Amino acid sequence: MKISQFNISNFKVDGGAMFGVVPKTMWGKVYPSDENNLIPLSLKSLVVEANGRVVLIDNGIGSKQDAKFMSHVYAFGGEGLLPGLAARGYRPEDVTDVILTHLHFDHCGGGIFRDSHGKFQLTFPNALYHVSAAQWEWATHPNSREDDSFLPENILPMKELGALHLIESEGELIPGLSLRIFNGHTRGQLIPLISYRGKTLVFCADLFPFTAQIPLPWIMSYDVEPLKTLQEKEQFLNEALRGNYILLYEHDYFADCSRLQLTAKGIRATEGFSFQQLLKELNE
Ligand SMILES: [Zn+2]
Repeated sequence: MKISQFNISNFKVDGGAMFGVVPKTMWGKVYPSDENNLIPLSLKSLVVEANGRVVLIDNGIGSKQDAKFMSHVYAFGGEGLLPGLAARGYRPEDVTDVILTHLHFDHCGGGIFRDSHGKFQLTFPNALYHVSAAQWEWATHPNSREDDSFLPENILPMKELGALHLIESEGELIPGLSLRIFNGHTRGQLIPLISYRGKTLVFCADLFPFTAQIPLPWIMSYDVEPLKTLQEKEQFLNEALRGNYILLYEHDYFADCSRLQLTAKGIRATEGFSFQQLLKELNE
């Protein structure tokens, strides 16, 4: 198995929205914000190559949104989706599977592009696009609180173009890569667990966007069922601590990965480290 991670781009959101009921006097100490209270987030994808499959996990905002939309997300930096893949040796047609943890615009927008005739096309023409059945149902009948995050142009073409594969239950997608389902952030979020060199790596998506969100009550305002998130975090963190899992953060601007440690205050992230460091350590 070969794994690669790259940052598609960064963007900014309101810091308070990312930390829910935690006051700024607390989150401000661990995650810096600018003069408008905005904090930087990354959009990091993971590529897993194994058993003749090339699996891409999440794919950023994409290029379909207009200037007005983009002016609200303050995108900056990053390698870009296709250049990032190319730098790791993959063409769009090499990708066999796209896992979408969920259908919020910052996780799935790169999977569909608008061609020169204005038609929607698959960015990865040979890939199956995996989404949980629960998330598909949830996103195609959106509640008004999440409506702005589910953009039809990111979602409906997957089905119309015949690429959609619905995941009904938890389990292995390919040997060494299994999918878990969580419901607090949004219904049916898929969290990939990867077995690599004897370790379990977790693609945390919006279950744990940053190392700073490991403490139980540090939950995004965006979550549709925060008490469910609380329960899911507690259960999963205990499992992850016992199993010495390594957490990969899609959104953490400052850290690619961390482990977990038990402190007097409960389970916390260790100091963050880069994906390169992780590979170096695991491949030694
Ligand atoms: Zn989300």
